[in-house]
Amino acid sequence: MSAHVIDGFSVAASVRARVADSVRSLKAQGINPCLAVVLVGEDPASVSYVTGKEKALAEVGMIDKSYKLPVSTTEQELLTLIQNLNADPAVHGILVQLPLPAHINEARIIMAIDPAKDVDGFHPVSVGNMVIERPGFLPCTPHGVLVLLREAEIRTDGAHAVVVGRSNIVGKPLAILLARKACNATVTICHTGTRDLASITRQADILIAAVGKPKMISADMIKPGAAVIDVGVNRVEDPTAKKGYRLVGDVDFEPACKVASYITPVPRGVGPMTIAMLMENTLLAAVRFAGKE
Ligand code: NDP
Repeated sequence: MSAHVIDGFSVAASVRARVADSVRSLKAQGINPCLAVVLVGEDPASVSYVTGKEKALAEVGMIDKSYKLPVSTTEQELLTLIQNLNADPAVHGILVQLPLPAHINEARIIMAIDPAKDVDGFHPVSVGNMVIERPGFLPCTPHGVLVLLREAEIRTDGAHAVVVGRSNIVGKPLAILLARKACNATVTICHTGTRDLASITRQADILIAAVGKPKMISADMIKPGAAVIDVGVNRVEDPTAKKGYRLVGDVDFEPACKVASYITPVPRGVGPMTIAMLMENTLLAAVRFAGKE
């Protein structure tokens, strides 16, 4: 068997194209969707994520209001910037790139963002709305995974989905989204306290790896015919690569392809979907602001 490789890159491109169409028609009505991206410090991975977001904003025709702040920025300075962005009617979405430097309390910053502009979907109000299935902003990476499953026509209804990882930004929200009526999966969440992980992952019709450990999910942990979604993005040293490293997922891709029926690659799998869903959320924020939902 050789798994069908889900092309997240092209699914993301079609999401962005759809967003760009809507942006054009909003602009014709005098509404200019705008995202404020705030980066504190120069963490290389964060800089590269922010660059990707800026590129996508340009592509879909949204206004990009970037703030690149020094690592010495205080929590109070960041809170003041967020309050100003909250109050600015020209700004529809606010994204603070995580992680923040250790001297800034991340939770306090997330809580400061107006839920109406919380396009990352991390504010407790957004999380609560997601859990009780009310309109709000869905977190971008989990939402992107759902779109990939839908586009690949992978049936979630009645499927056993196993999510490895329980972070607030990926594992937990993804498990909740899969368990909501719209997906109707039976969900198991695994973490470092899980005993005999392989015996559980082998039960998965849909296996989602969101761990952050290169190639940790080996082929023998996958049920034959399962759909495997690899959220992991890990940098591993590679002297032959231009940058001295390459990206690998949490799944041991080549052997896994021989067991799974569907699989996402890394890169070009879930990663591009995260940014595409951010564009969609910013569009939604602008539409809601204009009262045109
Ligand atoms: P976190 O480090 O916040 O969470 C990792 C989770 O994996 C934790 O819940 C942890 O369990 C669990 N875990 C770690 N080791 C094991 C193990 N041996 N067995 C079982 N569970 C384990 O990571 P994130 O959720 O933020 O990110 C996960 C991965 O996804 C990373 O590679 C990250 O780079 C990538 N990512 C990719 C995105 C994309 O756009 N493609 C977006 C966001 C993240 P415990 O809770 O017990 O510690």
